[in-house]
Amino acid sequence: VGATPEQQAAIDTLAKQFLLSDERLGEIIKEFRRRMEEGLATDGKVLKMIPSYVTRRPLGTETGSYFAIDLGGTNLRVLKVTLDGHGGVTTEHQKFPLTEEAKNRTLFDFVAQCVDTFLDERDLRPSGQQPAISMGLTFSYPVQQTSINSGTLVQWTKGLNVPGCVGRDVVRLLQDALLRLGLRVKIVALVNDTVGTLLSAAYSDPAAQMGIIFGTGTNAAYYENVTNIAKWKGPNPSSGEMVLNMEWGAFDSDDFAFLPFTPHDIKLDRKSINPRKQAYEKMISGMYLGEIARNVILWLVDQRMLLDGRSSEVLNAMWSIDTSYLSAAVTDTSPDLSETRQVIEKTMDICNSTHVDRQIFKAIAILVGERSARLSAVGVVATLTKRADLMNKPITVGIDGSMYENYPSFDTILSETASHFIPQSQFRNIKFTLAKDGSGVGAAITAMLAATDD
Ligand code: ADP
Repeated sequence: VGATPEQQAAIDTLAKQFLLSDERLGEIIKEFRRRMEEGLATDGKVLKMIPSYVTRRPLGTETGSYFAIDLGGTNLRVLKVTLDGHGGVTTEHQKFPLTEEAKNRTLFDFVAQCVDTFLDERDLRPSGQQPAISMGLTFSYPVQQTSINSGTLVQWTKGLNVPGCVGRDVVRLLQDALLRLGLRVKIVALVNDTVGTLLSAAYSDPAAQMGIIFGTGTNAAYYENVTNIAKWKGPNPSSGEMVLNMEWGAFDSDDFAFLPFTPHDIKLDRKSINPRKQAYEKMISGMYLGEIARNVILWLVDQRMLLDGRSSEVLNAMWSIDTSYLSAAVTDTSPDLSETRQVIEKTMDICNSTHVDRQIFKAIAILVGERSARLSAVGVVATLTKRADLMNKPITVGIDGSMYENYPSFDTILSETASHFIPQSQFRNIKFTLAKDGSGVGAAITAMLAATDD
């Protein structure tokens, strides 16, 4: 309303770039499935399909307190998780924002220091005579797992860039840092955050088959029959199944052929610390959506179609638009779009915006968010339909992350889109559930399982 024909034409162009037909999504799902099969057969493919060494499920009847460290892209959490024996958990946790220094240099010493603080403040630090505390470590970066408590870092993602870690065992790196502090803590389980999310969902729901993160980055894990993991050369576990960490954020990274790259995505990719990597993640997750929107905004500004052609120091700076600002605009239904005005005028430091400016900003936020949710359904559908043997039973998908929890309509668009690709009789058995802070809880549960492993 009130937009000039030129502005309308530019929005139409953006809509063409960002809105994906079901037909297009169907093609991407097919390719996703092909990449899954490829990753199950051979190491080092685009979808890494990494065996997690987690072969069991919690029963939900276990009791006791267990500890975990959850290293995400934005925060580090140390947790004490108490299982009530009826599928319920209570957690006591402390959150430490990752400092720039930790992200680029001192990560493992920083983590050890936070564990020390957590234990010290609760009077839990073991003395020389006491046994070491066992902890699970959730580590949400691609790791080639070599046992339940060891694995080498494949590469950094999500803005972390600590030198000297790629190719090394991350548990060893942390264990050494704990040793330097003289802290009696033993890391007994290394789990990816998606594996943790799945395990935490499984403690309260035996139908849990898949865990997903839509947060700073995106990734998923699911239970696969070991007979389907052609590349697995280890022993066949008694359960016959193993959780696989898909590392699905890398989908389409090698050839950039299937995802709907726009010039705005390519600009982001080129300037990222990992160009040509994590292509799927860059279109879906919280770390990137604000930056895609910023590129779109500047494209319009430079054509004098937005903000009267004005920018600001803030708007010119990479990563200056947090994805939560997009959420705020999408939610904004006030007559004068006052929340959106706040974002433009206060956060982006542009003095005065017109109603049309605000409408366009909101339209961009909707387009970027909707594309993210629809592309997210691709991975969900490809993975669930891979387990055709389960599709006529109840299936629970545990999901965590700020995008899923907070981006308006993300959850409904995701499940609505998925429903277009799964027969109704099967779709109604699928439950999507928020597994809040599941990654840390799941690491504690895996630490418990590791203590009683077969
Ligand atoms: P992590 O994945 O690091 O464990 P989160 O799940 O909290 O942590 O995700 C953090 C990411 O979510 C950040 O990239 C941030 O920009 C984004 N984010 C934070 N708040 C919101 C929101 N309200 N809506 C959408 N994205 C958000």
